[in-house]
Amino acid sequence: MSHGLIPSLALVAALATITAADEAPVRDVVLAIHGGTAGNKKERSPEREKAVRRDMLRALAAGYGELEKPGGKALDAVETAIRVLEDSPEFNAGKGAIFTHEGKNELDASIMDGKTGQAGAVAAVTVIKNPISAARAVMEKTKHVLLTGRGAEVFASQAGLEMVDPAYFWTQRRWKEIQKEWEKEAQERAGNDKKTSAKASPVLSGPWGTVGAVALDRDGNLAAGTSTGGISNKMRGRVGDSPIVGAGNYAENGACAVSGTGQGEYFIRFVAAYDIAALMKYKNLPVEAAAAHVILRKLKTAGGEGGVIALDSKGNFAAPYNTPGMFRGYTTGDGKMKVLLYAD
Ligand code: ASP
Repeated sequence: MSHGLIPSLALVAALATITAADEAPVRDVVLAIHGGTAGNKKERSPEREKAVRRDMLRALAAGYGELEKPGGKALDAVETAIRVLEDSPEFNAGKGAIFTHEGKNELDASIMDGKTGQAGAVAAVTVIKNPISAARAVMEKTKHVLLTGRGAEVFASQAGLEMVDPAYFWTQRRWKEIQKEWEKEAQERAGNDKKTSAKASPVLSGPWGTVGAVALDRDGNLAAGTSTGGISNKMRGRVGDSPIVGAGNYAENGACAVSGTGQGEYFIRFVAAYDIAALMKYKNLPVEAAAAHVILRKLKTAGGEGGVIALDSKGNFAAPYNTPGMFRGYTTGDGKMKVLLYAD
């Protein structure tokens, strides 16, 4: 007996401190987005911050437009908002995707319908302009959940989605970033310092910048979507948490819709997005306490960096992150939009 009791008392105590320390959720949110975790403020110029804010506001407005249509669906709002972010070079998704170790772009995305529990995803795709739409097509037009690589691309093309040359994803800024990482690696190799090169493992290095959206429509349905280029300098074929249901993306009516960003390997191992929903369902935690527990306690204690946007079925919204910043924004039921980049 005491075996079962001790951990559960410890958990209750831990959860109690989280609830007390938590910020109140934002209420009456119908759509929220993120543009990835952010490092130090000084890493980004005021011009780039302006461009990020502008494109996030455009994404919020486009998604909200879907919700405002008669019978407007959360799924449409999520897909539409993410497409705007994928088309912007400012984020690590679609057009602005980071490079792999081999200097290519491999994109991942997923979408989930909280009403039906259905989900669709694509991983390691290189020629699909909007991976989030391909994820939705997988959900709606196949018996499967996740298609990868060439199979996903052939399917997306047959489904009538816009295909592009891989060169479409090349941007000067991301190219400069990957070159810096390669230079660092070369220096480490020259120094022959095994310890340093293990520390600079591709999987753990930034920059990040995934995008995601969660929405709640007038029928009370939740949806979540996430799209990314992955982690800079990742190995070829590496798949992160973004296209993995329950890891970087999850939606369930009555619980919450979650989209994550950060070190995907941690989100996968901790089944982070679903863990937030499970804490709400089985421990009756409010969304802000559940999300804070997973991001600010579990992930952080293990050394995993990242954040989530999480929205419950009543419109309560939380966006905890354990990095210096996380680009995030939301729209309330009255159409008011807000974008936040750091702890501002
Ligand atoms: N979570 C993404 C991945 O690991 C990266 C990110 O959020 O920026 O692929």
